[in-house]
Amino acid sequence: MTDCAAASINQPLKQTIPRCPICRDTKKVLLYGWQQYLVGEGKTPSFIFRCRGCDFNFRRFDRPLTEVLSHFKVAPYSTDEIEQQWQKRREGFYRFLLDLLSKPADGKSLLDIGCAFGHFLDCAVERGYRPFGTEVSEEMAQLLRKRKDYPVSSRPLDDLQLPEKRFDVITFVDSFYYFANPLETLRQCYKLLKPGGKLLMRVTNRNQMARFYRLGRSLTLRSRRVPEMPFWTTDDAISCHSRRSLAELMGKTGFRIIKLTGLEKGKKIDSFGLRTFYQLTGVLAWATWERICFTPGIICLAARE
Ligand SMILES: [Zn+2]
Repeated sequence: MTDCAAASINQPLKQTIPRCPICRDTKKVLLYGWQQYLVGEGKTPSFIFRCRGCDFNFRRFDRPLTEVLSHFKVAPYSTDEIEQQWQKRREGFYRFLLDLLSKPADGKSLLDIGCAFGHFLDCAVERGYRPFGTEVSEEMAQLLRKRKDYPVSSRPLDDLQLPEKRFDVITFVDSFYYFANPLETLRQCYKLLKPGGKLLMRVTNRNQMARFYRLGRSLTLRSRRVPEMPFWTTDDAISCHSRRSLAELMGKTGFRIIKLTGLEKGKKIDSFGLRTFYQLTGVLAWATWERICFTPGIICLAARE
């Protein structure tokens, strides 16, 4: 297979089609476009593929972890001041997510993967969970260790060196789409969870936007060349999940889905236009039993059998 990340923008788009990381099919995978903005520094174009089998969009991702880490240094949420603004905006949302878990927390252990500045964990502590965080950015992890008294590991998930069946709850709040191999990631979570333990994740719902883009392109441009995808298609993430791809993933890894929804609450959005747009998408999703669901996120709650 060719190395997509090393390909030049002007190079003809002859890419070997990779297997879908979820359903392992090649026949249903399409080259969807390319994007110059890639996770980390370097900005080499990377190709985005879409699997029609499970509705999963993904980048061919074979860059070293160090390049991914540079992304978190330059990320807009990396200063204290901006981070506090984020915390205020998202506290209500974190509480809404915690409400989805069974109560009471009663000292249950909760692992938050990709915990960044620990805001979600702070809310979990408030509820009575025993927190544990992982954050691959050593810079952020160190900062967190200074501020909080709960354990934070900067090891990658496959090298956490923790006993199996260690946690009651595992959460990914806007971090699951940084994992290049979602099947393997969930298998590791399965091992770390106690039987009956819960997995809760929130991912961005970008596939619907990508579908709009494709429709627009096919109606207007009719170009044979694959043009650059707009930033919102995958943005800085490595993959884009949909409800279908998440359902497929959970099924393959032995998780039972309890809730899979685009309806979420609690975020403070400053922009009036954006807030109205989100409210409308929520109403539309609710009124159509989520058949028309352009909501900004997808929440999946599942249990280890
Ligand atoms: Zn697939």
